[in-house]
Amino acid sequence: MPELPEVETTRQGIAPHIVGRKVKQLVVRNASLRWPIPSDLATQIEGQTLRSIDRRGKYLLLNFAHGTALWHLGMSGSLRVLQGSGVQEPPAIHDHVDVIFSGNVAVRFTDPRRFGALLWTREPIGKHQLINHLGPEPLTDAFDAAYLYARSRTRKTAIKTFIMDSKIVVGVGNIYANEALFAAGIRPGKAAASLTKARAELLVSEIKKVLQKAITQGGTTLRDFTGGDGKPGYFAQQLAVYGRGGKLCRVCAGQLTETRLGNRSTVYCRVCQS
Ligand SMILES: [Zn+2]
Repeated sequence: MPELPEVETTRQGIAPHIVGRKVKQLVVRNASLRWPIPSDLATQIEGQTLRSIDRRGKYLLLNFAHGTALWHLGMSGSLRVLQGSGVQEPPAIHDHVDVIFSGNVAVRFTDPRRFGALLWTREPIGKHQLINHLGPEPLTDAFDAAYLYARSRTRKTAIKTFIMDSKIVVGVGNIYANEALFAAGIRPGKAAASLTKARAELLVSEIKKVLQKAITQGGTTLRDFTGGDGKPGYFAQQLAVYGRGGKLCRVCAGQLTETRLGNRSTVYCRVCQS
């Protein structure tokens, strides 16, 4: 599933090719995504210049003078850039949307499971119903130890479930929650309210580190973002605990414990995490 680092890497990968260009044509082959693509979207964006692309949580925000297109990659979606004669490349079965820009450039959306979304809004993006409840971005200064500590005071929920709650902070998916808690030495099942100030400091720092590392690695892996293989290029990472249940801890060589928390696979070390 595309997580925040993949979405951010996608943003950085496609922006240089399409920002500042006019939308020539929106081609929707299948509008039935998680929510239907609005039938007037072509009318809204054709002939308009794409001013910038932002990201909020896992939403890509394509900013036009009079509104914003929200693009979510869902469970299995990916975007790639087609250039020159590549724009005429026949679509494959799961290529549901092309946005064709001036200068013979297009962005093609592939989404086998169709849990993605492409929506349009004219309201300020912070007020949109999919955005207005979201917590701070993990890589901004708004997400700091004082914030996490204050928000956790009355919460009996497991710390792992807590940091994966997008109302608390966005973009901490299951892999990154497992990895950040290991790096911070915190057991995933501990009550959020038991977090000390010192541990909040450590946890925030490790969350930022693991996400930043993934973005940096993704940027390297996705050098061929415009390549024609259609692969989204999600990056294999060097993981300490995620997917390693029963294997040996890379720090203490003890056996890693696997359990489920909030119905998500959770792996930790009973020696290194307390
Ligand atoms: Zn260990």
